Amino acid sequence: MSEFNNEIWFVGAEMSPLVKAGGLGDVMGSLPKFLLRAGINVRVVIPYYKNIIPKNLLDIRETYPAGRVNFGEIPFEFGIKTGFAMGDIPIVLIEQNHFFNREEVYGTHGGVCAYKDNLWRYAMLAHGTAYAMKILGMPLVVHTHDWSGGFVPAVIRQTFGDKKVSVNVSGSAEGILSGKLSRSVSAKGLRPAIAFTIHNLGYQGVYGLDDFYDIGLDFKYNSSDAYEHFGTINSLKGGIKLSDIVTTVSPTYAQEITDSRFGFGLDGELKNLRNTGRLRGILNGIDLDYWNPKTDKLINYNLNIKNDGYGIKDYAEWKKFKLNNKKALFSEISLPLKKDKDGKILPLIGVVSRLTEEKGINEFLDALFNWNDFPFQAVILGSGKDYIEGKANYLAEVFKDKVFAQTGKYDEALSHKIYAASDIFVMPSKFEPCGLSQMIAMRYGCVIAAGDTGGLHDTVSDITNPDAKNPSGILIQYTDPNGIAWALNSLYNIYASGEESSKSAGKEKEKNGNRKWSDIVINSANKHFGWEDSAKVYEDLYYDIIK
Ligand code: ADP
Repeated sequence: MSEFNNEIWFVGAEMSPLVKAGGLGDVMGSLPKFLLRAGINVRVVIPYYKNIIPKNLLDIRETYPAGRVNFGEIPFEFGIKTGFAMGDIPIVLIEQNHFFNREEVYGTHGGVCAYKDNLWRYAMLAHGTAYAMKILGMPLVVHTHDWSGGFVPAVIRQTFGDKKVSVNVSGSAEGILSGKLSRSVSAKGLRPAIAFTIHNLGYQGVYGLDDFYDIGLDFKYNSSDAYEHFGTINSLKGGIKLSDIVTTVSPTYAQEITDSRFGFGLDGELKNLRNTGRLRGILNGIDLDYWNPKTDKLINYNLNIKNDGYGIKDYAEWKKFKLNNKKALFSEISLPLKKDKDGKILPLIGVVSRLTEEKGINEFLDALFNWNDFPFQAVILGSGKDYIEGKANYLAEVFKDKVFAQTGKYDEALSHKIYAASDIFVMPSKFEPCGLSQMIAMRYGCVIAAGDTGGLHDTVSDITNPDAKNPSGILIQYTDPNGIAWALNSLYNIYASGEESSKSAGKEKEKNGNRKWSDIVINSANKHFGWEDSAKVYEDLYYDIIK
């Protein structure tokens, strides 16, 4: 292949709705869609999880000659397939049944029990990607994601060399990625530019150094300038070191990770990157077509679609929406609708989360356990650590008429029903790179109770901050059981003191500190978290690294 194609290749382990284990899947599914809409040529490269993907929306068009890589002494063959996801997103699938034909993406129990061979599985994704470039032509930019995409930069450098493409245009390079500005760029001796996005620094892909011989990488990458990190292989670190630019998924998280409290041992590296202008924080969006309370087919009752405004400012509609969805959900899960002594329906708390320590759900469960006769009902959906799943199920058993829990599996339909039915969405994360659940919950008119960190800080406007504009929830400084109980109690007091809508959705009322529940719901539902703005920032970033 003698010239670069005007393309960006996304590489990662998930792509919603084909295959999703968490927020990475959402981003890999929705950001390319918005870049395509903006006229940028994008392809997405993911493993062909043969028993997961074909159930979903996929249109495979072609297969290509097999590639080969040696892992130590053992040769592995793999295949390349191309096609389209969701009708129009071009994709490349790396097929290797031994590694990718599994029931789950990273491992069982929501990835907590990781597959033992994940090192080789995601090294295979990297080798497959470089091979696909040889067959299909080189993109100008490779945008790889998280530890599972961390070997991509090394394999690209080892295959095509260290020298980066440079599109020599006077003035603006804009238009090149969409092919509007035609420039043929010789690929001879050059590699694509590489962008790397950290979705969660808590997962770094750390393995024993002995295995470095067995992943098809030149031994020179076993150095502290690449993957070696205090005597281990660290896939995320190498990804960061060998890329041209690094982004993470919110401005606050981009700051936080340069501090040892949030840096998971890589804060020094990240501080250097920040100081040299190579670390940027770009807020994720959500797919507003998919997460749309007016048209969502997975919920029981849609928001009045006659109104075309963004979030609907009529609180009566939201009240109807919440009540109808609550009733339908409760009848499915056999939870009675409970009222307080004044005859007011108890607010429903929703949880849709991985159940790992960082998410703070363990502390939330403790807050309810410690609370004598808590004035809420709760529906909890999540999978992860056994002890947190067990605690959620125990809470549901002890408070049968107030709490429902479904643990241990991913359930897309139930997640939508929870967002639609809940009054309060709880997300007391200890750290949160961006967080999508709170944005989805706001789109569905939930008031948020969240940890004051990362993307939660950037997206939730806090009722306890007198300067906050259009508050949509409460931010919790200390996400221990007491802090969470304080936040929930504050929200309950607002809910219980009357929901009356002020027509001016949070203007005069905010000024005098008198927050009404209806105003917070309307504020929340009218926050705009689309991809349009961020997609533009990514586009500029791609131009920066190919210039
Ligand atoms: P993270 O990526 O750290 O898990 P995010 O808030 O960024 O957290 O993204 C979580 C995504 O996964 C949201 O779309 C949420 O609805 C979804 N999700 C989490 N757990 C489940 C589950 N058990 N069933 C269905 N969806 C889930």
